[in-house]
Amino acid sequence: MNERVKILDVNVDSVTMTQAVERVTEIIETGSPELVATANAEMLMMSTHDAELNRILNAARLVVADGAGTVWAARHLGKSMPERVAGYDLVQELMKLAPSKSWKFFLFGSSPGIADKAKAKAEKLYPGIKIVGTRNGYFSAADEPEIIAQIKQAEPDILLAALGVPKQEKWLFAHMNELQVPVNIGVGGTFDVMAGAVKRAPLWMQRAHLEWLFRAMLQPSRAGRLIALPKFVMKVHKQKKDVSS
Ligand code: UDP
Repeated sequence: MNERVKILDVNVDSVTMTQAVERVTEIIETGSPELVATANAEMLMMSTHDAELNRILNAARLVVADGAGTVWAARHLGKSMPERVAGYDLVQELMKLAPSKSWKFFLFGSSPGIADKAKAKAEKLYPGIKIVGTRNGYFSAADEPEIIAQIKQAEPDILLAALGVPKQEKWLFAHMNELQVPVNIGVGGTFDVMAGAVKRAPLWMQRAHLEWLFRAMLQPSRAGRLIALPKFVMKVHKQKKDVSS
């Protein structure tokens, strides 16, 4: 078992991408439902004032460091965090492996048509992949029994939910025992990127740890959310001081 690093109130797994994929493989082989969370600075900040989200993240089987902020925080606290494991990249790695493992995916979330486009893209990129169902992420409570029945009938090994944070984590956690899908991952904007509806930052920006800036530039409605980042830095710094004093 790898080390877990407590960042603010969440235990984040100190894993490489390869180790994260191995952990997901173990969950599928074991078969009981588990949550996998991809924690960026915004999610970690949200969890400081959302007790339900905090409880869910700490009950997750695997929490990867999605974002330069999470990797920085772990290292600032003097702990090891080998690399960033972005949710989008984790999904691509799992999809790449899926045909040889016969893993089945269900894509739940995003605007109507987006999950279908993401499915078509995955089938093109990863020949032989089995995507056994899609459903958009705009629904009322009255629609939920039908959505649950659709997912159960499809019997996926991996359920990807793109409903935004924290809705996706809360929805998956509330329903995973009923659904009995082994791997449940909240994937945010992954289908939008796969469908070509939203662009991912160019590699040079990802490498310069500036993906957050690119997303804010592209979707100015997100810019207000950036205020969480300096708050995150201050809180991590305080955590470090509290530990060492
Ligand atoms: N979304 C959804 N249902 C909702 C709210 C959001 O399906 O009720 C989708 C939205 O269309 C988008 C994704 O959830 O595809 C959220 O993406 P975003 O990049 O904003 O994720 P976050 O940064 O919140 O994780």
